[in-house]
Amino acid sequence: MMNQQQFQRDVLSTAAGDLEITFLGHGTLLFTFSGKQIHVDPFGRVADYAQLPKADLVLVTHDHFDHLDADALAKIRTPETEVIVAQACVGKVDNAMVMHNGETCEVAGIPIIAVPAYNILHKRDSGQPFHPKGAGNGYVLTFGDLRVYVAGDTENTPELKALEGIDVAFLPMNLPYTMSPEMAADAARALSPEILYPYHFGETDTAQLTRLLSDTDIEVRIRDLA
Ligand code: ZN
Ligand code: ZN
Repeated sequence: MMNQQQFQRDVLSTAAGDLEITFLGHGTLLFTFSGKQIHVDPFGRVADYAQLPKADLVLVTHDHFDHLDADALAKIRTPETEVIVAQACVGKVDNAMVMHNGETCEVAGIPIIAVPAYNILHKRDSGQPFHPKGAGNGYVLTFGDLRVYVAGDTENTPELKALEGIDVAFLPMNLPYTMSPEMAADAARALSPEILYPYHFGETDTAQLTRLLSDTDIEVRIRDLA
């Protein structure tokens, strides 16, 4: 078992103090801001959640097993924990607040926007998209003055590309479920964040994304998020 202290972390400064991002792996993140612990898609395969801080807020993007993991969630949930889920998770998590695509709210002092996360191109053999529109969310979180977009399992959708004022973006890049490096680069050019973290990238060559964006001002940061 991996030592839980070995996770990579970045600290970004905001107008309201530092934001620490812990890269737990895959599509899973932990944000620490203003004394609050915000877990995104807790997943027991990437971390021992018994050793991680209890959550003030948990965000779940959709109901696939690597995003909605009831055991991992139970380990960090307390009676005070707020849990926000997407439409796909309705009936699968007790006492959760559902955010539908496009909805906004403020929890733990953090303004949150639910952005649709879905496939346009990539479908199962049955013809059903891996991620049907309406089922899943990405989330824009505002920490002080820093707007962070965690895209969830999505492609370069019009709704994604219309987002404005994103400082930091997490974009998924694993085929066939989400985006190719070309699609992620297209999404990144539209979003134009200061910092781009490809995440949930599996076997995809992250260097390809860095190359595709080498003529932009976007800083592509590669972390342990396969
Ligand atoms: Zn998924
Ligand atoms: Zn996924």
